Amino acid sequence: MKTISLEQELNPWEAQAARFDFAAEKLNLDVGIGKILRQPTREIIIHIPVAMDDGHIEVFTGFRVQHSIARGPAKGGVRYAPDVSLDEVRALASWMTWKCAVVNIPFGGAKGGVICDPSKLSHGELERITRRYTAELIEWFGPERDVPAPDLGTNEQTMAWMMDTYSVHMGYSTPSIVTGKPVGIGGSAGRREATGRGVSYLVNRAMDSIGLDANKATAVVQGFGNVGSIAAFSMAKHGVKIIAVSDAMGGIFNARGLDLWKLEQFANQNRTVAGFPEGEAITNDQLLATPCDILVPAALERQITEANAANIQCRILAEAANGPTTPKADEILDRRPDIFVIPDILCNAGGVIVSYFEWVQDLQSFFWGETEVVDKLFRILEGAFTQTLNLSRKQKISMRLAALSLGVSRVREAKQIRGLFP
Ligand code: NAD
Repeated sequence: MKTISLEQELNPWEAQAARFDFAAEKLNLDVGIGKILRQPTREIIIHIPVAMDDGHIEVFTGFRVQHSIARGPAKGGVRYAPDVSLDEVRALASWMTWKCAVVNIPFGGAKGGVICDPSKLSHGELERITRRYTAELIEWFGPERDVPAPDLGTNEQTMAWMMDTYSVHMGYSTPSIVTGKPVGIGGSAGRREATGRGVSYLVNRAMDSIGLDANKATAVVQGFGNVGSIAAFSMAKHGVKIIAVSDAMGGIFNARGLDLWKLEQFANQNRTVAGFPEGEAITNDQLLATPCDILVPAALERQITEANAANIQCRILAEAANGPTTPKADEILDRRPDIFVIPDILCNAGGVIVSYFEWVQDLQSFFWGETEVVDKLFRILEGAFTQTLNLSRKQKISMRLAALSLGVSRVREAKQIRGLFP
């Protein structure tokens, strides 16, 4: 009989639920409160009819899941992908709840998605999908209700269409309905760079904690998109040598350190880092096992698994992507005290922190300069990192469990103080 490992059986929602149950047990969470926090508050499925460019009609399925609104409006991205599912959106929505809580910003968690392949859709088709998606969900969205943002397959333009659709329905401009929009219509300075900068800030803090000198450290980065490229540049600015980088097409390794400026130029021209002449080609599997001080998965979910977790050779694992490590891989990493893990809900929280700043600036119609944004971002990350590290050391638990416990305990507190209605 074919055996199926636990890891293969768990879909993203089950995997996050397993982690939640583990944290709930460690926290001695009241069973009733646990039941509330485990499930999303609201799940909406819509089927959107859209006229395609050639005149035929297509129906797309979309989701919006609001996991929690206990600490503030629901907050989370909208993903356009062919394989997006309700379970995936549920998992990502709950992740957002814990992420906002661990960095202590006044948002709950949400996520949305539309099953479609953006690479096969025209600009006009994407616009019509986005506007109809927004219109169908209009009563659930709102600056005080639920504030979307970009995610995989969506971008600043998508947010501009969402904002415009919502504003037209309301009869007045409402920039605070979305974050991650262009600066010209109420976006924040420093939003685009926020996640990568945050990753690099936390890597610096982790280096301090384990006594690693940035000028002697090497880093490997999986994914050279928004987060990976900015994290790489920012770490390099602090003296770290970036020895390997990859994207969906392949990777590149240079033990002497990659010239990031040249690499970026090459990637812009060729739409990939693969084939960069100043280094050796490596696969993504080889990249993850490359000996280095700092490993930054900044691409996809489920990259570090039961199959490769034991082969990772780094001192700091900075989880820039959402969910790059599976629960089974976690168990392996838990038995490896040589690796300092900066868990995803903390590591990539820079993006949602500056989204929070964007929302605040929109609400008060008063905009900050980039220096102010970066300064405030680092202060929040500093507090969250210190609290997570202290909890991890005090309770002798992993950084991942400490971050999740901090997030869950803040949401629990809000739920308990507010009470049940009726
Ligand atoms: P992006 O689309 O800009 O970049 C993704 C990169 O990953 C690209 O270089 C792509 O080629 C690469 N990639 C795709 N498949 C790959 C594969 N199989 N192997 C190696 N590389 C692969 O996306 P992004 O905004 O940089 O986001 C990256 C990750 O960070 C995602 O998990 C996202 O959910 C997470 N994240 C992003 C933000 C943000 O502000 N952008 C915030 C929080 C979390």
